[in-house]
Amino acid sequence: MEQATELSLRPSNLSQYIGQEKVKSEMAIYIKAAKQRDESLDHVLLYGPPGLGKTTMAFVIANELGVTLKSTSGPAIDKAGDLVALLSELKPGDVLFIDEIHRLAKTVEEILYSAMEDFYVDIMVGEGSAAHAVHVPLSPFTLIGATTRAGQLSAPLRDRFGIVEHMQYYSEDELQQIIERSSRVLETGINIEAAHELARRSRGTPRVANRLLKRIRDFAEVNGETSISLLTTKHALAKLEVDDEGLDQIDRKILKIMINCYHGGPVGIKTLAANIGEDVETISEVYEPYLLQKGFISRTPRGRVANAKAYVQLGISLDTR
Ligand code: ADP
Repeated sequence: MEQATELSLRPSNLSQYIGQEKVKSEMAIYIKAAKQRDESLDHVLLYGPPGLGKTTMAFVIANELGVTLKSTSGPAIDKAGDLVALLSELKPGDVLFIDEIHRLAKTVEEILYSAMEDFYVDIMVGEGSAAHAVHVPLSPFTLIGATTRAGQLSAPLRDRFGIVEHMQYYSEDELQQIIERSSRVLETGINIEAAHELARRSRGTPRVANRLLKRIRDFAEVNGETSISLLTTKHALAKLEVDDEGLDQIDRKILKIMINCYHGGPVGIKTLAANIGEDVETISEVYEPYLLQKGFISRTPRGRVANAKAYVQLGISLDTR
């Protein structure tokens, strides 16, 4: 059920997709040109923090192209043969979407090079002296890769993407529109002020906004509200421990440890992760980018430092530095 609403929350074409104006306007041109030439769209790499709409954008692109999308993820492909099976099922122009593409095994990744460049793969069959390479031609297809970090991709793979798009955090206005759209899909009313408050506190991320909206809706329904009010939104967000800047428990823990245990830094990401009990990837891909963007922390060659804004947010005197 949750999965069904998740699907319905996804916009299905470019005009319904809110925000990411630069990505949308560029993709609209590339899609149109590919359709006019009756060719497959060049391979697309989408990168940016989790929950910003990379998967959604991949589905939108396939829909706009009028082709089928097959979806998988880097860690899900164990063996080169699994990828070959996926590739050989694609019809001309189809999209293969690989989420977390930076986590592909090296042997699997190497299969992609010739597949992306010249639409074929060479596979080895048989064993020992009978082993020989078989040339498998593929239909021209579009690979859409999504990653939280373009820098983690090997150069040969990165260079094979003709289109590279960076997904940005959303503005409050855009998030408010997304929240209003999601509440229509969920068939719940929401007051403008409540939608604005939630937008402000959703870390610039549609996935966070949608997740919080569903929880706030629970509070509103239990209160007998037909339309989510500002008061209920504030009350629910307090219960969910999301503060007035949209920081959650872990964000605050990160800042507290930096300030209380390391005099505001500099402190290395591994040390931070160990102190918090989260893995390094989660800290560096989910938490750090938002804290950096909002100016709570800065990155220096010697590690991360907490800025004055972090002290103010936590109500800690700057004299402790
Ligand atoms: P990612 O692949 O970057 O982690 P997703 O595409 O899975 O992110 O998006 C997360 C959630 O946010 C989905 O529920 C999706 O419907 C919603 N979402 C993302 N971008 C938008 C957008 N531009 N407009 C409306 N909803 C969006």
